[in-house]
Formats: sequence, structure tokens, C-alpha cells
Amino acid sequence: MRITGIRSRLVELPLDAPFRPAWGRGRVQTTLVLVVFEVGTDQGVVGLGAAHGGLEAQIAVDRFVTPHLIGQDPARIETLAGIIRDAEILGPPPYCMEIPLWDILGKAAGLPVSRLWGGASDRVRAYCSTGELRTPDERADGVARLVEEGFTAVKLRFHHDDPRDDIVVAEAVRAAVGRGVELMVDANQAGADPGVGGHAVWDFRTALWVGRELERLEYAWLEEPLPRHDWTGLARLRDRLDAIKLAGGEDNHGLHEFRLLLERGCFDVLQPDAVKSETLSGIRHLAAFAELSGVDVIPHTWGNGLGMLVHLHLAAALPNCGYLEYPHDPPSGLTASARDRMLTEPLTVDTEGYVHVPDRPGFGFVLDEDLVAHHTVHTIERGDCGFAVAEGSAT
Ligand SMILES: [Mg+2]
Repeated sequence: MRITGIRSRLVELPLDAPFRPAWGRGRVQTTLVLVVFEVGTDQGVVGLGAAHGGLEAQIAVDRFVTPHLIGQDPARIETLAGIIRDAEILGPPPYCMEIPLWDILGKAAGLPVSRLWGGASDRVRAYCSTGELRTPDERADGVARLVEEGFTAVKLRFHHDDPRDDIVVAEAVRAAVGRGVELMVDANQAGADPGVGGHAVWDFRTALWVGRELERLEYAWLEEPLPRHDWTGLARLRDRLDAIKLAGGEDNHGLHEFRLLLERGCFDVLQPDAVKSETLSGIRHLAAFAELSGVDVIPHTWGNGLGMLVHLHLAAALPNCGYLEYPHDPPSGLTASARDRMLTEPLTVDTEGYVHVPDRPGFGFVLDEDLVAHHTVHTIERGDCGFAVAEGSAT
């Protein structure tokens, strides 16, 4: 089999309501932007994937990855992963381009990718990942409603100027839902997001104080409490805390950084993202070493339904995972239905809080082609893109 053509479409989907990310103060998000990639082959199989990014991601892939993929056998993923990783220093990370290759392989084999990887599980427990700052009452009521929707685990954001105000929210939520619900906190302290007003930056002692408060409240993990390259600070913090786990890694790049995070003992939970931080093959290698160190690999996911499906298959295949990050924060515009709007079938949780892996070959993407076509603002086609757009969505 040979890759004959690559099409990319930049899609901008309006949100029904604004979303104000806790990590980007002053930022108001009104659209969901993604790039849909289709990789065509001489055997008629078309692989799909998506970048959580815009024109910059589309152009970086077109310049630095596409010319090296056309003409290649898509099944030689370990070889092609080298091309994709090498391009990482030239522009926005192009790791997402391994996704269509696995989609092609799954479709050619007639198997869901998770089963191709030997995954035994056909469903993964979701944790609802919220994104906005709310008052203690609003957040407590909101989490109680999420529990009614079926979630058994929920993650909050901490971004008040005074972390004591964040702890008040965490206390209200714990009081509202009791001990039966797993709760986590994402501090988003790994880097400074260029929000309009900046954000309160924690030092080591603040992170330690917050971690101890969250231990008192029986929270499961504290995510990104310190800068992403502060190997020493993270390891020291993990040492000083007892019950609570430390999580992070979503914006670390490359296996070399994850090796350092593992070797230095920075985290209990590594959160690589197959779109942002490493290729799928790289993450699977990492997961094997993490398992030997007693560290879980629970992929980060945000952005769009295609990324969700990819991480669902990955989570179902990894023995040391157990969770799927499930971005959803009503009544903001960032909800599961907005996140998955480009798919004909959004991912939902069952009554026990699990997301089921679709029993379709590849990653099981089925695009809502009319919607994607309507909201496509820029298309690039290289090689023979004679494959029908709709064909990319079929098995
Ligand atoms: Mg995070």
C-alpha cells in the first residue's frame, strides 16, 4: 500500500455560548478550530486525523511532513514516526500525522485501533474535565449535576489570585458530592498562558500548601502545580506530599522529556497527548517504561471529537491508564456536544460513567461532512486527492 495524496481542511465551528478558559485570563473563546487531515492510499483506504490547531498546524504539516509521506507505505509507522518527530523542531508539533496512519492500518485490518494494539478493554472511565472558574456554589451545583449525568470523576481548575479562594471551591464541591466521587484539580501552572491579564504564578511553597489542602479534602491528583521543566521542584513536591498524586506532561515534547520526568520521579500520572506532545507510537513506548516505574499514563485530551476518539482507543489499550479526559463544562460553550460537533455520533458516558470504544475499524471517525464542508475556511491538497471527501468518513 502507498500513500497517494493528503488533504487538510481548516475548520472553524462556532460555539453556542462563549467559553472563558481558567488558564487564559481575559480570553473568550467563541469558536472551536481544528484541522482535519485525510491521507489517501492506492488501495482506496483513507485515514483520518486532526490537529488541535489552526492555519499554523496546516501549513507546518504541508511543508515539513506531507512531502515525506506521499509515496510511502503507511503501515511502516515506526519509520514514518521518525519523519514526524524530526519535523517537531521546524514548526508546531506535527505528531497528529501518525493518527491517519493508524486509522488506515485499522481499516485495512478490519479492527478498531485499540484492538490492533491488543487492548482488552472496550470502555474507559471518563473524568469530566471542566475549564472555567466559578463561584463555590456554582461549581458545587455544577459538579452535582455532572454526577447526575453519570460522571464518577470530575476535574476542577484553580486560577484565583488567592489560592485560598480555590480551596474554598474545592471544599464546596467535596461537601456537595461526598466521598463517592473522584475529584482532581488542574492548576495549569506548567507555563504562562498569554492571557490578557496574565495569571497568578505559584511558587514551590504555594504548590505544597495547595497539595496538602487537597490531601485533606481527599482529592485524587493535582495537575501541573509547577513549571513543566522544573524537574527538581516537581520531584521535591511529590516527595513532600503523601496521599495526593501529581500529574502533568501535556505540553512536554518528545520522549526525551518524558524520560526525564520519569527518571527524576516528577509525576505519578503522565499525561502525554498524541496531538501535542508525542506520536502515538512514542506514547505507547513511554507507557511501557512508565508501567515499570508504577506510573500511570492517562492521556491529555482537549479540542475536538477526533482527538477524543484517538485518546479513547489509546486509553483502552494501555494497561496503566484507566481514565479518559472528557472536556465538558456546561453552561459554557465548551460542552461535549460542541466538542464532538464535527462527528455524526458524539461520545457520551453511560450510566456508570464510562465511554465505549466504537466497534468500527480504525478510530471509528464518522465526520458530519455537510457541517465540516460548511465551516471549512482553508483547504490544501497534495498529490492525488481524487478520493471523495465522504470516502474519508467511511470504513
Ligand atoms: Mg491539564
